[in-house]
Amino acid sequence: MSIHVDEDLLPAVETLTAEQRRGAACVWCETPLQPGIDDVDLGARHATAHAPAWFPRGCRRCCYGRDDR
Ligand SMILES: [Zn+2]
Repeated sequence: MSIHVDEDLLPAVETLTAEQRRGAACVWCETPLQPGIDDVDLGARHATAHAPAWFPRGCRRCCYGRDDR
């Protein structure tokens, strides 16, 4: 499952935990995610001059407004 979310809809990367940056937890609600099971890939962000690469993922509830199961 993968959707693209505009940059300005994501939380500021410097406010996120290590788990959120590597895609192990939802970037909005910090719910732990199980890759390939209940995560939604929001598209890897490449490293910039200001920040390292990070891998935002969200839970289904935050991405779709509901649990999809
Ligand atoms: Zn969430």
